[in-house]
Order: sequence, then C-alpha cells, then structure tokens
Amino acid sequence: MTKARAPVKLLDENGRRVDGRLPDEMRRLRIEAGVLRNADGSAYVELGNNKVISAVYGPREATPRHEALSDRALLRCKYTMLPFSVADRKSPQPSRREIELSKVIREALAPAIFLNEYPRTAIDVFINILEADGGTRTASIIAASVALADAGIAMRDLVAAIAVGKIGNVLVLDINGLEDQYGDGDMPIAMMPKLGEITLIQADGIYTPQEIEQAISMASKAIRRIYEEQVRALRSKYEAVRQEVDEE
Ligand code: UDP
Repeated sequence: MTKARAPVKLLDENGRRVDGRLPDEMRRLRIEAGVLRNADGSAYVELGNNKVISAVYGPREATPRHEALSDRALLRCKYTMLPFSVADRKSPQPSRREIELSKVIREALAPAIFLNEYPRTAIDVFINILEADGGTRTASIIAASVALADAGIAMRDLVAAIAVGKIGNVLVLDINGLEDQYGDGDMPIAMMPKLGEITLIQADGIYTPQEIEQAISMASKAIRRIYEEQVRALRSKYEAVRQEVDEE
C-alpha cells in the first residue's frame, strides 16, 4: 500500500528530522522505578512524547486455576492505550492491535524471566499508554522489564527495545508518530542487552540484507544506553528504600 505524502519534510537538506534529531539520535528517555505503592513492581517511562506506566503483580496464585502451568509461571501481559492517549479519542474497548501488542510484548519479555522458578503461579504485567507518539511497544517493553525487576522477579537479563525506521533510503533511530505514519519503514527490536540476544524483531517496509544488519547495529547501540538507564532507575529506587530503612 502506498503511503500518503507527509505534510512536512521528514528529512531536511541538513539531514535533520522533523524534531531536529539526526538519523542515529534517540529521543529523550526518562525511567522511574517503583512509582506505584500497591503493585509488586512498577515503572514509568517517557520516550520523547510517549508516556507509559507499567505495573507487575506476582508471582501469585494463578486464577483461574485451570490456567496454571505445573512447570512454570504463567506470564500474562495487558497493553492498553488509554482513550486520551492519542489525538483521535481511542475507544476503550480492547482493539485487535492491543491484543496483538500484548502478545508481542509478552513474548519479548518471557525469555528474560526464570519462569520455571515459579511453577503454578501467575505473573501479571499491565501496561497503560498515557500518551502515544510512535514506539509505544518499545517504550512498553522498557517499562515492563523495569517493573518486573522492581517486583523482585528472578531474571536472566533486562529487556530493552527501540525501533529503527526508514525515510527514503536513510535508516533512522527511534521513529516518532509522524515518521511512523509517513515514513518508509518501522522495525521494532527488543534485546536482552547483557546477553546480546534479540527477543523481538518486526518489520514494516522494504530493506536490503545490509540495511537489516545496519538497523540491528543501530538498535543494539541504543539498547545498551537504554539498559544503563534502566539499571540507574532501579538503583535509585533501592537507594531511596535503603535511606528510608536507615532513617527508621
Ligand atoms: N496510533 C494512534 N491511534 C491508534 C493506534 C496508534 O494514533 O489507535 C499512533 C500512536 O502514536 C502510535 C503510532 O500510531 O504510537 C504507531 O502505532 P504502531 O501500531 O506502529 O505501534 P507503536 O509504534 O506505538 O509501537
């Protein structure tokens, strides 16, 4: 399907993008761990204009009980885009896209969790998109992974994610909503940064094998930076907890 022409130039004469970034520049990232008192683990993430909150419950008794797995935890994931998160009000009914993204995010996170340490239990991951501007699935993976670690769930690694897009024949890191809508490609990639393994890769658009290699290399570099931010957020939450305990 051919895309509509962008209302603005997505890449100017100086190689700058609509928001002034260079092709290999990520949007501003902010991560906070432990933002909700009543969840076992939680995290808040801003990636550019995206605002995402994730809450984790568990491992806890799996209900309904017939869904429990005898050899590992049941990992459930619910991605929800709130009605006010996009310019056109989104219906509060779960859409096919939300159901698909819930599955995709669950599958990107699962390899990082020692699910077999928690047989017959359930781990529930909730993700709410407060504001969306392209790349909500990658921001969700960043947030959910921090929320899982914040819940104290045993993990072999965190999971970090970023999308690489394409404008004409230029690969661009971390596409925003406008670039997603009018650009020529969208390739979200999730990785376990310490292990260097990809847990999710999807692609819209047409790429040469060399471009795919380049996109993975651009994403890996960004993912290492995101991982540092995730660790920093978890550390500062636990520094605050330690201070509170010391003061008591
Ligand atoms: N979007 C929207 N309304 C919707 C779904 C998506 O405005 O009902 C926008 C939103 O900004 C989202 C972007 O389209 O981030 C790209 O959506 P996509 O399905 O590619 O997923 P994402 O890039 O958010 O992971």
